[in-house]
Amino acid sequence: MAIAAPATRTARTTGRSSTPSSLTQIPRSHQTTCPKCTSTRLTQIAMTLTDGTPVQFTSCHSCQYRAWTDNGVALPIDRVLAKTQRNRVPGSRG
Ligand SMILES: [Zn+2]
Repeated sequence: MAIAAPATRTARTTGRSSTPSSLTQIPRSHQTTCPKCTSTRLTQIAMTLTDGTPVQFTSCHSCQYRAWTDNGVALPIDRVLAKTQRNRVPGSRG
């Protein structure tokens, strides 16, 4: 009885990268999309509140979405208004 070992060494795993595997789109860091309507027509303005807090104001041209962020952290609008209430412009209604 002779045991013949089958030569199944044909399946070699060569780490060849012939097919492109970068099909997933990498979001650009400088291009922000609107979280409400996913539009890219955004206007981002860096401003400083009256209490000295540097914030970034984001406005969407498609759905009028507005957001304030402080170092990437979203700020509530009422909090932003509270920070800006001290700077009342004379002559304006409100
Ligand atoms: Zn929008």
